[in-house]
Amino acid sequence: MDHFQHRGGALFVEDVSVEAIAEAVGTPVYIYSRATLERHAAVFREGLSGVADKHIAYAVKANPNLAVLRVLAKAGYGADVVSGGEMARAVAAGMAPGDVVFSGVGKTRAELIQGLDTGIGQFNLELEEEGHVLAALAAERGLTAPAVLRVNPDVDAGTHAKISTGKAENKFGVAIGEAPGIFARLAGKPGIELRGIAVHIGSQLGDLAPLEAAYRRVGEMVATLRAAGHRITHVDLGGGLGVPYRPGETMPSPAAFGEMVARVTAGWNVRLMFEPGRVIAGNAGVLLTRVVWVKPSGGHPWVIVDAAMNDLARPALYDAYHDFVAVRPTGERLVANIAGPVCESGDTFAKAREINAVAAGDLAVFRTAGAYGATMASTYNSRAKVPEVLVDGARFAVVSDRIEPAAQMAGETVPDWL
Ligand SMILES: *Cc1c(COP(=O)(O)O)cnc(C)c1O
Repeated sequence: MDHFQHRGGALFVEDVSVEAIAEAVGTPVYIYSRATLERHAAVFREGLSGVADKHIAYAVKANPNLAVLRVLAKAGYGADVVSGGEMARAVAAGMAPGDVVFSGVGKTRAELIQGLDTGIGQFNLELEEEGHVLAALAAERGLTAPAVLRVNPDVDAGTHAKISTGKAENKFGVAIGEAPGIFARLAGKPGIELRGIAVHIGSQLGDLAPLEAAYRRVGEMVATLRAAGHRITHVDLGGGLGVPYRPGETMPSPAAFGEMVARVTAGWNVRLMFEPGRVIAGNAGVLLTRVVWVKPSGGHPWVIVDAAMNDLARPALYDAYHDFVAVRPTGERLVANIAGPVCESGDTFAKAREINAVAAGDLAVFRTAGAYGATMASTYNSRAKVPEVLVDGARFAVVSDRIEPAAQMAGETVPDWL
């Protein structure tokens, strides 16, 4: 069921007309569908029905809006966080601290202490030294920190280099072969219970084979660690499942992913943990924008929209494709470049793309913008921070305000010695 559909010629999100949101909130604006978030959460969980003992922690960095987190908390999801800020959001949104997993390659001492004080469920260690520091901080507080070690399995995830994390040259985790030594040195230390391993090889994965290869290496390491006398009770398999961005594109389904996981992990006898982000939020959101000008050029015309790279960074950052759909398609087609108003040539959403014909003043959406969209937004070029709206059936609410330049300036000071 797609909750972003044209009805009577105009685009709706669930039962709300996108034009009504533009009227009430202005553009650009992110719009999320609660029903879609819930459906994705349910489909991912059902895909893992062959895994008896599991914990699903939504990767907050994909979309950390409090209302989005609340939807997922109500769906029974925990959270995978990569900063103290995300930890605070997860708890504020109603997630139980014990359901929070703390990943992140550069956790500070203050953040480790925040995790201990919050009582989070698991620390995913990125290096040995972090384990020694965490153990000391926990022991000082009379606590034992539950932890797993993130290993780098050295597999090529086959995704964009900037979102690939499981190759030996990446900054994440420890080389998998170092795990036995690190376990030997951390096991039995007061303040820490090193109980398993974690892996996450990258994002927007369109093929299950690299994941399967990584999981097999993890399975071998579980056996090696057990043979050395360690108690391994948890394995965190990370996130990374891709979503279709282009019309007609197909991606491995959560069911296919779950079947592979059940097959590869049979007999591991651990609690499996998952950290899906994009697959939950990506196709649950669009970025609504208005066409400012259609500017003729020697080649294809430039469709200049009021959304820009500061609102949706993925095309500039990763050459990402976001489908562009008119809110009221006329049936005519146009081959055009699509760009925002920011003074960078990188502020281009599409080149020579065939799209619905649009004219100045028309509304359109960039689809698949629910993940790594608003959360990466900035105010570059002194633009307003883009607002976010959540639709639920026939109602909607602004769940993050537009922050205008005047409010941004209110947080700045010209020193009195100037
Ligand atoms: C980013 C991230 C995820 C989520 O990745 P998706 O591709 O959005 O599923 C999960 N785990 C870790 C450690 C991450 O850094």
